[in-house]
Amino acid sequence: MRATQIVLSSRPKGIPTSDTFRFEEIELPNLKEGEVLVQPSFISVDPYMRGRMNDIESYIPSFQLNAPIEGGIMGKVMESKSDTLKAGELVLGTLPWATKSIGKASNLKKIIPSSISPSYYLGILGMPGLTAYFGLLDIGKPKAGETVVVSGAAGAVGMVVGQIAKIKGCRVVGLAGSDEKVQILKEQFGYDEVINYKTAGRNLFELIKAACPNNIDVYFDNVGAEITDSVIFNINAKARIIVCGQIALYNSSQISRGLRLLPFILTKSALIQGFIVHDYKGRFPEGMQQLTTWLQEGKLHFKETVIKGFERLPEAFLGLFSGQNVGKMLVQVD
Ligand code: NAP
Repeated sequence: MRATQIVLSSRPKGIPTSDTFRFEEIELPNLKEGEVLVQPSFISVDPYMRGRMNDIESYIPSFQLNAPIEGGIMGKVMESKSDTLKAGELVLGTLPWATKSIGKASNLKKIIPSSISPSYYLGILGMPGLTAYFGLLDIGKPKAGETVVVSGAAGAVGMVVGQIAKIKGCRVVGLAGSDEKVQILKEQFGYDEVINYKTAGRNLFELIKAACPNNIDVYFDNVGAEITDSVIFNINAKARIIVCGQIALYNSSQISRGLRLLPFILTKSALIQGFIVHDYKGRFPEGMQQLTTWLQEGKLHFKETVIKGFERLPEAFLGLFSGQNVGKMLVQVD
């Protein structure tokens, strides 16, 4: 059976370009015992994948040159040589960027059909939702009445962080990159204030101060760099800073220099902690259960930006770095 796959054709320096990706036609082998043939319905593009394009040691292996890029996929089993998955069932897993691929059934998770949209298992009920849940609640420990600031507020993770902080009774202030995102977060996601950091320019520090009259108790950082520098000036004593992502730096080829944060951490007796969601793997069922309950109770809402067409995967991925998405960026394949 033939399929089209996308391989990493060169390691990008700075922002990836069309030269980073190459489309290839391949012939898939016959299924072996325990394997299934999967046709993707939705393919997730995620900022962490940019790090995998570099040839550096990290918490997850680099993509290999001339080998398929792989990522989160929700798809349908087309053929099965497994006792646990049948043709027609929906699955979730990490698979190559391909129009069809073969995976071990033991590495795939079956999605039980329900009223929940299956694509949500790549978003609010998947890696981004769990990242928001554990990062905010386990590290941030927000208390009612406290002020929580979220950068990357209109993205897949940020959108969930702000809503959980509201559930916990906090004042929530977001930072996002367009007036449309500001409006959506305030009108549909309950944010108390949202600042467009792109139009704020040099006033960002003052705008954050004005939006946080009692200063900041919890900062959930999805972006880093100058935005984080402006937030840190406004933290309270015993603030908790959750370092979830640093997307503003993912395309830098040099070590970035900025404000020295540690004096603020020292004088405010603040906590700063980075984390990778897989640190919480053993507690994923707890996170899934709580997020599902809040979703079903109408306490959480979600948005997706869906780009149609397998051939648009590189475009969707690049769109993450120019803020083309509101909520989870997905590519719909079928
Ligand atoms: P996302 O927020 O849905 O998409 C990326 C967003 O980042 C864009 O929409 C854009 O929004 C913003 N952005 C892009 N370049 C920027 C820049 N130079 N400065 C400021 N903002 C920029 O992505 P996500 O999946 O939810 O991930 C959010 C962050 O969490 C990423 O840094 C990701 O790496 C991290 N993450 C970490 C973990 C973990 O385990 N620690 C797990 C998942 C994700 P604007 O329009 O607002 O600029």
